[in-house]
Amino acid sequence: MPRQLIGAVALFMLANAAMAAKTCTLNVESNDAMQYNVKELKVAADCTEVEVVLKHTGKMDARTMGHNWVLTKTADFQNLTNTAVAAGFEAGYVPKNDKRVLAATSLIGGGKSTSVKFPISKLTRGGDYTFFCSFPGHYALMKGKLTFG
Ligand code: ZN
Repeated sequence: MPRQLIGAVALFMLANAAMAAKTCTLNVESNDAMQYNVKELKVAADCTEVEVVLKHTGKMDARTMGHNWVLTKTADFQNLTNTAVAAGFEAGYVPKNDKRVLAATSLIGGGKSTSVKFPISKLTRGGDYTFFCSFPGHYALMKGKLTFG
């Protein structure tokens, strides 16, 4: 192979490697009125990893108005809300080792922020996903759809 061509191939491979890893950050805000600022989140097709940053812009503490961000398949959503409440405050209302939980942040109070990262391999292109706050009673208002692709 001519030297120049090898150089070109190497450059191409480098560019490919750079493209191969892409963390996509989604910003979500929550407040004292028991609301997220988004109803829909989109993960682009070329993301390899997703980072969700959750901010609580309110003032109330985590025991009174705690928020988190939990991702699950829409088909598992209703059942998971019950299990999540049963997990309790200390567990951040997220059941441990539950396969229905695709990703979850910690539970935070006003003025705090938290984040979670997960690989795109957790999602299927075109799948139906719901994100919600698992604090007791919050999911009725605090939920939305996540789409990928
Ligand atoms: Zn909440």
